[in-house]
Amino acid sequence: MTVPNLTLNDGVEMPALGFGVFLVPDVDAEGAVLQALEKGYRHIDTAAAYENEAGVGRAIARSGIAREDIFVTTKLWIQDAGETHALDAFERSRVRLGVEQVDLLLIHQPFGDYYGTWRAMEDLYRRGQVRAIGVSNFYPDRLVDLIDHNEIVPAVNQIETHPFFQRSADQAVMRSRGVQLESWGPLGQGREDLFTNPILTEIAQTHEKTVAQVVLRWLLQREIAVIPKTVNPARMAENLDVFDFVIADDEMARIATLDTGASTAFNHHDPSSASMLGTTRFDT
Ligand code: NAD
Repeated sequence: MTVPNLTLNDGVEMPALGFGVFLVPDVDAEGAVLQALEKGYRHIDTAAAYENEAGVGRAIARSGIAREDIFVTTKLWIQDAGETHALDAFERSRVRLGVEQVDLLLIHQPFGDYYGTWRAMEDLYRRGQVRAIGVSNFYPDRLVDLIDHNEIVPAVNQIETHPFFQRSADQAVMRSRGVQLESWGPLGQGREDLFTNPILTEIAQTHEKTVAQVVLRWLLQREIAVIPKTVNPARMAENLDVFDFVIADDEMARIATLDTGASTAFNHHDPSSASMLGTTRFDT
């Protein structure tokens, strides 16, 4: 199974489909990532805040796959924001992952001194310690402001994107600025009403595919990178098997009607949520 690449704004090639490890405990991450690599995944998405970088690193080391053939993303958490803290936190992540260079480093959340963090990341990029730098959870206003007041344009913005929260206007802003949209929660984080949705179910039956496959394919056809998560080996294979069918324009239009325009997970504009996230500490 060959996964096509997306070319980021600094020329780096990123597999359009990767494997997410949110909520996979470190003790299980090694086994899950090893299985994903065996199935053919070559793009792993972790974060300091997931507290499983070491497990991901052990899997990469044990896999026997050449380091340059695996695309590794990690993210800096809010408590490590600011120029100095971010450099130190990156070094801890890099060591836990057991790699010389990280392929994509993201600011996990647009809270705290993320301008300082971005300057640190620009330095890491110039020094060659990361191949691409980007952000996550940035709404268009904050993204555009970050771009206008810094030198390097983020290569990626990883944001919640799925049939119930489609982000078309956000994607248009990102396209105009050369920022690749990467979906987190592509399967609605396992929401039952996504897997039983009548429109998605009908389209899946037409193509003899599952709803998960239709949703991932729909995102890929919108030129959105996806990083679905599962620890179930059969589902790992299922989520990778999305390159042998095409969702027709009229089917794309039907899926477009499912958009609610609102997050099903987290409201970044709610002050209490911003404060809750900003004060949550992890063992980074
Ligand atoms: P997801 O949309 O990938 O859904 C995961 C859940 O869907 C799993 O728990 C599993 O039960 C279910 N699932 C997976 N494949 C399935 C299949 N084929 N059939 C039926 N059910 C299936 O949600 P996610 O894990 O939250 O998002 C994916 C990745 O995105 C994460 O693992 C993480 O790497 C990243 N992420 C980033 C942020 C961020 O703030 N940047 C937030 C959340 C997730």
